Amino acid sequence: MSHETVYAIASGKGGVGKTTTTVNLGTALAEAGERVAIVDTDLGMANLAGFVSLNPDSTTLYDVLTGDASIDDATYRLADNIVAVPSGTSLDDYAETSPEGLREVVSELRSQFDYVFLDVGAGISHETVLPLGLADAVVLVSTPEPAAVHDTRKTIELTDRAGGEVAGIVLTRTRPDGDVSPEEIADRLEVPLLGTIPEDPTARESVYAGTPLVVFEPRGPAALAYRRLATDLTGVEVGSPPAGDGGTSGGIEARTATRNQSSDAATDETGENADGLEAAHDDVSNAITEAETDG
Ligand code: ADP
Ligand code: MG
Repeated sequence: MSHETVYAIASGKGGVGKTTTTVNLGTALAEAGERVAIVDTDLGMANLAGFVSLNPDSTTLYDVLTGDASIDDATYRLADNIVAVPSGTSLDDYAETSPEGLREVVSELRSQFDYVFLDVGAGISHETVLPLGLADAVVLVSTPEPAAVHDTRKTIELTDRAGGEVAGIVLTRTRPDGDVSPEEIADRLEVPLLGTIPEDPTARESVYAGTPLVVFEPRGPAALAYRRLATDLTGVEVGSPPAGDGGTSGGIEARTATRNQSSDAATDETGENADGLEAAHDDVSNAITEAETDG
């Protein structure tokens, strides 16, 4: 392997923009002609499917990890050059999975795609830590909020323990009047600053539309920042958004995502992404105890 192709998109705190980053980096690279897979490895609090209008009631990563399906069965085409592997959404399911199976999933996807993005759950449970070590590089995501930055330290430490490599940090939802500059935050954490994504209301609107931001509002500030980040991270020339009206239609049709094995395209409006995350923190505190006793 000559260069990094599998990235884990990770954070200590939930709701900071990991899924948004996963979906938009992946889509920007796919538009540039790279073959991309985005994978929801957030088994406990899956939400990637809603971002791209997939109905997660069908075969998911969960079925792959329980040995009931092949990775191909859980792989859905979103648009030209890009597929998604959604995760299950039930906590009961989550309890039964063996995250170890991820190893094989990642290695299979690595061989089939130019780039693989793993949308990693927040916190420090086993299923969160494993992808950090399986990826070639970890992209930390944080908002400039002190609590989020603080939790990023844990993710850096976990990456280290998992034998992974931190590529750097992406600061999302930045505002021009922020107290601390992105550069300073990265400096304090002693990691490279990979990029900044400004606060942009169309980010949330794109989730409700079930369409990646870089397609939904290709010329908006956050979409442009994601394109730049895609190039800076991978070296792939992503370029300007496709020519057009600059409105809500883009070059690819992620809005009508189709399934691999059937044609009943789903339009699921999973809008409750940020808010549902609090529940995950109970899991996290249990996991902290677990991790501490595991040493
Ligand atoms: P995570 O996957 O880390 O939980 P999400 O990607 O789901 O985070 O983002 C959390 C919420 O923040 C979503 O409602 C999303 O639309 C919103 N969001 C993400 N990035 C931005 C941005 N740059 N500007 C404004 N809102 C954003
Ligand atoms: Mg998420």
